[in-house]
Amino acid sequence: MHYLAVLGNPIVHSRSPEIHQNFARQFGIRLDYQKILVPHDGLGHALKTLQDQGALGCNITVPFKSDAATRCDQVTEEAQELGVVNTLVFQSNGQILGHNTDGKGLIMDLLEHQRVTLANKRILLLGIGGAGRGIVPALLSQGPATLDIWNRTSAAATDYALAMKGAVSAPSKDTFLEAYDLVLNATAAGLSGATPDLPGRVIGTDTFCYDLSYGPRPTPFLAWASSQGTNHLSDGFGMLVAQAAFAFEIWFGVRPDVRRALSELKTSS
Ligand code: NAP
Repeated sequence: MHYLAVLGNPIVHSRSPEIHQNFARQFGIRLDYQKILVPHDGLGHALKTLQDQGALGCNITVPFKSDAATRCDQVTEEAQELGVVNTLVFQSNGQILGHNTDGKGLIMDLLEHQRVTLANKRILLLGIGGAGRGIVPALLSQGPATLDIWNRTSAAATDYALAMKGAVSAPSKDTFLEAYDLVLNATAAGLSGATPDLPGRVIGTDTFCYDLSYGPRPTPFLAWASSQGTNHLSDGFGMLVAQAAFAFEIWFGVRPDVRRALSELKTSS
């Protein structure tokens, strides 16, 4: 029996255990995958406990992705560049190796499942926390016309844009004058039932709105986007399953069938 877990706060909403159990069934792997609520100052202790219990590794979610990156002994080149990790491997020598699969998961969902292309598109990314930073290089790799970022704490967006040396822009929301082709919500606002405080003109009837958050009902962001006139909407469940498949491959060396998992999990939710 292999032991894995997802660590976060809050964690009750996480569907990672059922996703990884679905993948494990695809390969006949016996898996114990737990969700663990970690106190805000408790990540180090939680990781040590998991290692002592013989876990293979873990997933990291809100709000620990940056904290976890600093606790890794090694991180992949991609995770090093991002400064955030979502997948940890506990090596037999006691070291922790950090990966980030969020960007690849998002791109797989957008291109293969949503049939949305990003080349030459004007993109607005809301939120530059762990998830936002984790997907920027993947978005840039698709050759968008522009990638603008907005963050509730505006200094975080302007500092990030400066660090990215012009690859992204951080306009003030007063200067948002027209609709974007794609608006991605990578804020945690929906966890408290809120929506990012934005002018409705960023959404047009053709704007594709994607919320990295997900749930049984339309998320607050998608409900707001719909009220602005677009019906091109998706939540982040497809990304969740796709990034999990890349994590599963890191742990077990086999890539699960994401489409099969998506149809089975959607039916069972
Ligand atoms: P995080 O590192 O804690 O960052 C939170 C972000 O949300 C920050 O940008 C924060 O802005 C912003 N925020 C929080 N409350 C807000 C509010 N009321 N209004 C506007 N902005 C607000 O969290 P994270 O890891 O980036 O995760 C963000 C979301 O993405 C979560 O809902 C998570 O479940 C989702 N996610 C989904 C997937 C997937 O596979 N589908 C993968 C990763 C993450 P400040 O800087 O101002 O605090």
